[in-house]
Amino acid sequence: MARIGFIGLGNMGLPMAVNLIKAGHQVEGADLNPAAVEKFKAAGGAPVDMPAVAAARADVVITMLPAGKQVRDIYLGPNGIIESANPGTLLIDSSTIDVDTARAVAQAAEKKGLLMIDAPVSGGTGGATNATLTFMCGGSVQAFTRAQPILEKMGKTIVHAGGAGNGQAAKICNNMILGISMIAVSEAFVLAEKLGLDHQKLFDISSRSSGQCWSMTTYCPVPGPVPASPANHDYQPGFTAAMMLKDLKLSQDAARASGAQTTLGATAAKIYSDYADSGEAGRDFSGVIQFIRAQH
Ligand code: NAD
Repeated sequence: MARIGFIGLGNMGLPMAVNLIKAGHQVEGADLNPAAVEKFKAAGGAPVDMPAVAAARADVVITMLPAGKQVRDIYLGPNGIIESANPGTLLIDSSTIDVDTARAVAQAAEKKGLLMIDAPVSGGTGGATNATLTFMCGGSVQAFTRAQPILEKMGKTIVHAGGAGNGQAAKICNNMILGISMIAVSEAFVLAEKLGLDHQKLFDISSRSSGQCWSMTTYCPVPGPVPASPANHDYQPGFTAAMMLKDLKLSQDAARASGAQTTLGATAAKIYSDYADSGEAGRDFSGVIQFIRAQH
């Protein structure tokens, strides 16, 4: 049993922390949002006031924060995790952030004698709840080996993608595929509507044909075929349009910096930006189908 500090108890962090509690770990958690902290407490977690307090007492610190800015502040800032953690502590950042921030934080951690991996996830809130997430990990073999048994309590597929930052590189590429594929599936359903083809019929065919993908079979953007998808609950998140836009911007920044050609990624970023600007930033990203439908 490890003593774990868990910072960021939102849509993803809370169910992940709960799975660690269920596995018998002692979990101390912090979040700026009192409602999130209350839910954590109700699930058997021990709330602490500040990330630094949790870090100073933990064997392992896990963060699940919105973006790179919060990760920089919480790790590198005064009274931050790196300043407060004892040498030998393992740090796991599962937030989706830019590669440069991930590498800067890992370097500062190493300097202080801490072990660190970036370990962003795929699988959504369902995967977080059911402990079936995919973890994409960047860092030393030593850090990855120590993190593996902890990550196994929250996920099913755990891949070491290389050195520091490579987990984030994998995540950015994966979510560019997701953003594009959700738009592709949405456009296909809107076209089917125009052609008089039932949603369920298109699903029955495409989910078993070459159009098959996660956006179709697990997160279908129309109500009916996949009962658990946000389309059945007025596109309540899940994974917000704002978060998808954040990830697509990360992919476009990375593409520019590395000289990669990502034409469809750029188009997807523009579509999610327009969708978010239409007042739907807080809605699930699969709600982009409503925006696409309204364009016709
Ligand atoms: P969220 O906004 O629901 O949760 C983030 C939490 O961090 C919030 O509760 C917020 O109050 C807390 N927080 C922010 N700043 C803080 C600080 N300084 N100290 C303490 N707590 C702080 O977001 P989420 O959906 O849980 O996503 C978290 C990360 O996981 C993001 O980077 C996102 O891109 C990634 N992700 C999300 C999903 C998904 O389906 N939601 C899937 C894969 C990856």
